[in-house]
Amino acid sequence: MKRHKNGSKQYLTKMGTRKKVQAFVRVRPTDDFAHEMIKYGEDNKSIDIHLKKDTRRGVVNNQQTDWSFKLDGVLHNASQDLVYETVAKDAVSQALDGYNGTIMCYGQTGAGKTYTMTGATENYKHRGILPRALQQVFRMIEERPTHAITVRVSYLEIYNENLFDLLSTLPYVGPSVTPMTIVENPQGIFIKGLSVHLTSQEEDAFSLLFEGETNRIIASHTMNKNSSRSHCIFTIYMEAHSRTLSDEKYITSKINLVDLAGSERLSKTGSEGRVLKEATYINKSLSFLEQAIIALGDQNRDHIPFRQSKLTHALKDSLGGNCNMVLVTNIYGEAAQLDETLSSLRFASRMKLVTTEPAINEKYDAERMVKNLEKELALLKQELAIHDSLSNRTLVNYDPMDEIQIAEINSQVRRYLEGTLDEIDIINLRQIQEVFNQFRVVLSQQEQEVETALRRKYTLIDKNDFAAISAVQKVGLMDIEGNLVGEPDGQSFGLGVAPFSVKPGKKAKTKKTPKDQFSSSARKEGASSPVSGKEFDVASVSKTQLIPSSKDGDLKDTLARERETSSIEPLISDSPKEELRAPRPSTPPSRTVAFEEFKNERGSEINRIFKENKSILNERKKRASETTQRINAIKQEIDETKEALNFQKSLREKQGEYENKGLMIIDEEEFLLILKLKDLKKQYRNEYQELRDLRAEIQYCQRLVDQCRHRLLMEFDIWYNESFMIPEDIQVALKLGSSIRPGMVPISRIVCLGEDDQDRFSHLQQTVLPEGPDSITFYNAKVKTEQKAYGSIRRAWWRAACIINALNLRRTGVDQGYDKPIRP
Ligand code: ADP
Ligand code: MG
Repeated sequence: MKRHKNGSKQYLTKMGTRKKVQAFVRVRPTDDFAHEMIKYGEDNKSIDIHLKKDTRRGVVNNQQTDWSFKLDGVLHNASQDLVYETVAKDAVSQALDGYNGTIMCYGQTGAGKTYTMTGATENYKHRGILPRALQQVFRMIEERPTHAITVRVSYLEIYNENLFDLLSTLPYVGPSVTPMTIVENPQGIFIKGLSVHLTSQEEDAFSLLFEGETNRIIASHTMNKNSSRSHCIFTIYMEAHSRTLSDEKYITSKINLVDLAGSERLSKTGSEGRVLKEATYINKSLSFLEQAIIALGDQNRDHIPFRQSKLTHALKDSLGGNCNMVLVTNIYGEAAQLDETLSSLRFASRMKLVTTEPAINEKYDAERMVKNLEKELALLKQELAIHDSLSNRTLVNYDPMDEIQIAEINSQVRRYLEGTLDEIDIINLRQIQEVFNQFRVVLSQQEQEVETALRRKYTLIDKNDFAAISAVQKVGLMDIEGNLVGEPDGQSFGLGVAPFSVKPGKKAKTKKTPKDQFSSSARKEGASSPVSGKEFDVASVSKTQLIPSSKDGDLKDTLARERETSSIEPLISDSPKEELRAPRPSTPPSRTVAFEEFKNERGSEINRIFKENKSILNERKKRASETTQRINAIKQEIDETKEALNFQKSLREKQGEYENKGLMIIDEEEFLLILKLKDLKKQYRNEYQELRDLRAEIQYCQRLVDQCRHRLLMEFDIWYNESFMIPEDIQVALKLGSSIRPGMVPISRIVCLGEDDQDRFSHLQQTVLPEGPDSITFYNAKVKTEQKAYGSIRRAWWRAACIINALNLRRTGVDQGYDKPIRP
């Protein structure tokens, strides 16, 4: 299917199957028919031409003398009736179904083209294809009351490459002031300035035809025009709309009935003036027609030279393509005309090579389509309203959203992300879609903000960009293992590169070991058991690393994860240690060392709970494994007992069974085995139940352990940030501005406060804060987003801690003195 778009109308052509152009030959009756030269095949589908040798050409004469032409039918002595039936009836009938059609008469002057096409206008019986086609069209319309079919006609004459309207209502005065032009548009070809007449009945159509014929004759006198030197195209246009369906689809078609100028080769010798001009034009336009036909017949040609002459241009969408095409070649069967006959037959056989792909021209009435859609829309809206009222929903507006509504949704989404809005009410599908849309908008804005801020402060190198990494290595900014090395003078460089491998617990290779500054806090436990990757993934790194350009930073140890940490109430209530904390070391300690310190000091409580959870988990695992072993042992015993029992049974069967009043008598041994088996099965069931309980418990404990681990890491991050990473003045500012702990603010946000930001920040502190802390809502809003996200983790942790306490009490029956966790 092909769809063309043009303005308000849409065109659709249903592709059909390929078919050959039909070529017929009609022989004009004559008393002087050249019987020896022209022979018809028995099937009436071929003509053989035999030419007597031209004796004047001498002894050696290679001149061809025999030709055979295969055609779709030879019409000799055929009535106008038969000619119409054979040549035109099908094409006209198909035109009413939406297929374009072209019927053409070709041949030398006097061979009967006009007789075939128009016929004798004074004799009804001898009327030609044209009036018969009009009749058929109107008859068929009568037979189709389900369709409103309109018929229009036009009559065009092409004479010496000029266009004439044979149905022009104006008295004929020669070429009009604004000459007609051939216009191409996606709908096809049309002739601008050519009058097209609506005809509602057969009679009107006939009148127009006769008017055209009269004009043709008058013109030939007044203009001194030789009518056999002009091409005439009578076109019937049809448009069919369904009366029964309010279908926006409709079909259009046209049928071209072409009476070509005489094809005889006009001898130029002796011709002068008008005759010479005519000869040139006719010869040219017919040879262009022939060229177009040859090109159409050649499958490999994609360009058809239609625009070389007015005739081919005007017939561009009626030759080949998606039309039904029929050619009638009129020949004059006299010996004297044999040359022209041969030339006409050659044209016919060339035409037979052309294939077309007739297709229905379906169009869409845009206006009707819009009306139909509007109707359907109104109906659906009504249905929706009914649906809403049935489900007790207040009137919902389903119209497209305006800018204000979209802005409101955007604000809802922002508030939702910030945590100031708990949920977004669902109203309708359109609104849901817009919410998603706005989520995307907000997300991409935030991403951009973050990236811009990062780029302002850092140079980012992709972990997978090996070229960039090796360049950095070459310059000496990174060692073989992918660790960044600081410059001896401690000058900053803003490069962030992910190490190829960062082994947890591995000693840093930098010159200043963090322990030097921090050894006092590294306790024995941490020293003996460095953080293992399995246990605590502290040293894991993100894909792209960020290295703040800190002047005194130990670069390797600041390979910190970009963690979006956030608010969490400290499990450990603020201890006096906080105030008494020793002054900050000039270089932050490595995270590994700091972590050991954290576990023993500030995070000791959380670490204790974590360890206890783990030991409970291990204990449950051990018990599960023991139970499994017991179950296996019982199973084995069951199998053995069953085997023994079977043996006893078979023995009994062999020895003969004893029966007493319908009761089987068995010996004591067998009886004991049965009892044993029963007991074993009971044991098995009990143990199995125990194992199932244990497994559920293990699964649960595992989750608690994971949550504890997460909490420990998070607390550590906050503590680490507050202790070493976030400048104290910023911490003070953050504390003033919100209820959250400064360490929760992602370090990337803090460290990316470039000089400009810091200036702005201190400016903010000086100007805005004294006037009212509310003014820094901008920052609070951002932080709150994270606060909200961590709320759920906090709650989960609280639940975990409670469950652990409960478990311990249940399992041991003793209060082991776990601290009740502080409710988040
Ligand atoms: P053309 O249009 O090819 O120049 P015409 O159709 O004008 O030729 O035919 C020339 C003359 O021959 C006309 O008088 C026409 O009536 C007559 N004629 C042509 N073909 C037939 C035919 N098949 N039967 C009877 N008369 C014919
Ligand atoms: Mg004619």
